Amino acid sequence: MITDQAFVTLATDDVYCRGALVLGQSLRNHTTSRKLAVLITPGVSSGMRSVLRSVFDEVIEVDALDSADSVRLALLQRPELGVTFTKLHCWTLTHYSKCVFMDADTLVLCNVDELFDREEFSAAPDSGWPDCFNSGVFVFRPSLKTYNLLLQFAAEHGSFDGGDQGLLNSFFSNWATADIGKHLPFIYNLSSSAVYTYVPAFNHFGRDAKVVHFLGATKPWNYKYNLQTKRVMHDGTTSGSFHQLSFLALWWNIYSASILPLLE
Ligand code: UDP
Ligand code: MN
Repeated sequence: MITDQAFVTLATDDVYCRGALVLGQSLRNHTTSRKLAVLITPGVSSGMRSVLRSVFDEVIEVDALDSADSVRLALLQRPELGVTFTKLHCWTLTHYSKCVFMDADTLVLCNVDELFDREEFSAAPDSGWPDCFNSGVFVFRPSLKTYNLLLQFAAEHGSFDGGDQGLLNSFFSNWATADIGKHLPFIYNLSSSAVYTYVPAFNHFGRDAKVVHFLGATKPWNYKYNLQTKRVMHDGTTSGSFHQLSFLALWWNIYSASILPLLE
């Protein structure tokens, strides 16, 4: 066990906690040698906290209102940046030397500990605008200096997309051109929606996928799942491709086998 490195995720409510738990369990299933940490906010229930503690090594409560310094106050004038602000707290985890942040709507398909060989700031291209990185999976070094610079930057410039991805892309603005070593292969952040925008590429490379990211409005927990047939049910409104459905089924398999029993 390498105790000064961790996978970090974030869940601000009990619903996103379901995603965090499946992610954490998937990392455990693939025997990561790193610590697992989850950032939560006061909205997470006490019952959920104890379940989180059974999967994660550390459950860390963060609060956007915990201090009144001027940068934070300026940020509080921008309520649209609420969750963004919360994600930035990952830079305060200075008892770790290096971390990999993963959104609560991601799932690992194999051991991905080699991500810790990368440096800050490493991330995979965003499928919508590949000169931007997707902020659902990234390698970073906790540092209060960086944290404060990020807060200051957020207060001064906001975020061009209203979320953490726009902010982080502006802050780490030379990502696209400076160092190809900081470009994670797309298979470390395969957006399930990209699968059917370039089907031949998915058919060719998809078998190597290491991390699936269920980005977008409909998350795995929004689907219905039949516990008997072990099938994800999708109505006509969700254009679920075969591949997307198989990733969803994988998420639900972990959720029903390992997480639901903890929640009962
Ligand atoms: N998140 C959260 N609560 C929210 C929204 C987001 O905890 O209400 C966290 C969670 O870790 C989530 C991440 O922020 O995975 C980014 O949001 P999301 O995955 O919904 O954005 P997308 O990847 O779809 O752009
Ligand atoms: Mn996401």
